[in-house]
Amino acid sequence: MDWRERKARGITRPDPTPEERERFMREALTEAQLAMHDGEVPIGAVVVRDGEVVGRGHNRRETGKNALYHAEVLAIDEACKTLGGWRLWECDLYVTLEPCPMCAGALINARVRHVYYGAKDEKAGSVESVTKLFDLPYNHRPTAEGGILEEECGALLTEFFETLRKK
Ligand SMILES: [Zn+2]
Repeated sequence: MDWRERKARGITRPDPTPEERERFMREALTEAQLAMHDGEVPIGAVVVRDGEVVGRGHNRRETGKNALYHAEVLAIDEACKTLGGWRLWECDLYVTLEPCPMCAGALINARVRHVYYGAKDEKAGSVESVTKLFDLPYNHRPTAEGGILEEECGALLTEFFETLRKK
């Protein structure tokens, strides 16, 4: 049963309120700060189910020496371990930057319900910027909403790249 069917039967949790969206985006921002401390591009993500964080992740591409270690992938990985399954259809993901094609694909594969992101990524964003993967007729399509705490999410990235340039 996918989440739309569960929703139709009234057995899924209500959507997060605007206050909850901000609260969980702050959790993702906290993850992004951890990445920044490690000298990584500051991107953070959390997976939430029933108002509870079940997975966290931040970009670890440099420290982990692995192109797959994006915040969303790591948060999904942790959520699957926490929940003991790969179907995250009652879960929402919050990420500070618009997902790239790999992460948008991972969100489709994990059957994530809603995706909330902060800043747009004109270079790799695959929800609305470069392409719109969630609008294509895949077997599962998460809904997406950008612009949650957009300024704060973007400011962290700007700060990071400005510091890099000064070095
Ligand atoms: Zn990614």
